[in-house]
Amino acid sequence: MTNHSEDLLDERKGLPSASGIESLFLCKGKLLAERGLPDIEYSESKEGTIRHSLAEMDMPIEEIDDPERARAITNAKLAVTNLKQTTIKGDGYKLKEQRMWLRDEKGVPFLSGKPDYVEIIPQYKRALIVDYKMLYGEHSPAHANPQLFTLASLVMQENKSIQECFIALVTPLLDPLYSVSMLTRDLVEEWTEKLYKLSKTIQNPEAVRRAGVKQCKYCRALPYCPEARQLLDSNMDNIEELSKDPDALGEIYALAPMYEKFAASIKATVRSKLKDNNDLVTGYKLGRGTKLNQYDSEKALEALRAEGFDSSELDTAVKIQEKNIVSLWAEKNGVSIPQARKALRELMTKKDALSVKEGMGRIIKEKPTKEEKEDK
Ligand code: SF4
Repeated sequence: MTNHSEDLLDERKGLPSASGIESLFLCKGKLLAERGLPDIEYSESKEGTIRHSLAEMDMPIEEIDDPERARAITNAKLAVTNLKQTTIKGDGYKLKEQRMWLRDEKGVPFLSGKPDYVEIIPQYKRALIVDYKMLYGEHSPAHANPQLFTLASLVMQENKSIQECFIALVTPLLDPLYSVSMLTRDLVEEWTEKLYKLSKTIQNPEAVRRAGVKQCKYCRALPYCPEARQLLDSNMDNIEELSKDPDALGEIYALAPMYEKFAASIKATVRSKLKDNNDLVTGYKLGRGTKLNQYDSEKALEALRAEGFDSSELDTAVKIQEKNIVSLWAEKNGVSIPQARKALRELMTKKDALSVKEGMGRIIKEKPTKEEKEDK
């Protein structure tokens, strides 16, 4: 499946990257299995990219319309401020979303990475590296996070003066907001050695493919990979039996993201083929997309008033959005956004104008207790 012209278009030049390194340790055949295959667009990945861009641009919170995005960016900023105070303890120079290359002894690049946020204080010989995980989900904490170790390799190789590298995983929608760990230069150099060996192993066409939820979930080869299919199929035969056993049910639930991504990747592949040519998938055609009409409220209300609609008629058609009223309230009364939100909710509750709809609870992975960890 090798396609070198695609490698040239790929900003990673067909080499492994820090963001996928954990998957490559888990499935050594992944790099070659994915080569030449197009990216699969998942809706949540798009949302993650938007949130990363907002953080990179340091977008003022009041300019972010979506409340969930605003919460993610507010908490991300808060986490970085706390991290700076407790790790590098000062201000240095910052690098954001800049691609760096890890090179062998001869200066040949073998891996790259793009840290979300790096701050270096040369006089203290310290650096802080932050990786944002802007969506819900499970992530390896900083002390056990191969992506962060790899980013430390990149930053330390390019900045020879750094002796202490703080690596932090910021999860703005989760509790705790972040995890952090410190790596010395010796540790990072050992890790760089491992990465070099891995980069050689995964270029071998005989490299073994091993399926698992972490590595397969976002693998571009997922729709076609026999090893992944085998893992998915192995649980399908006796689902009824499995559902009676709590342990087995927990194990199969852990695979749920892989089933979801398998279905989503098939849909995305079919959609992209039909976009190219409406005859490429037997029995299916691409229909017309739906169009969503959006109105500018200010201009629309003005136009409707000019058409003779009075306020009481318009009131019946207008839907109040909490975030808009909260901003207005904060500005009008000179209070903060949280204070405005609290006051607004109190008033609306009193006036019987507020009802709260409860969403479905998320299924959360239980953390092992201290005793369970010690038993392992
Ligand atoms: S789908 Fe899974 S097993 Fe197959 S190549 Fe990708 S990561 Fe490896």
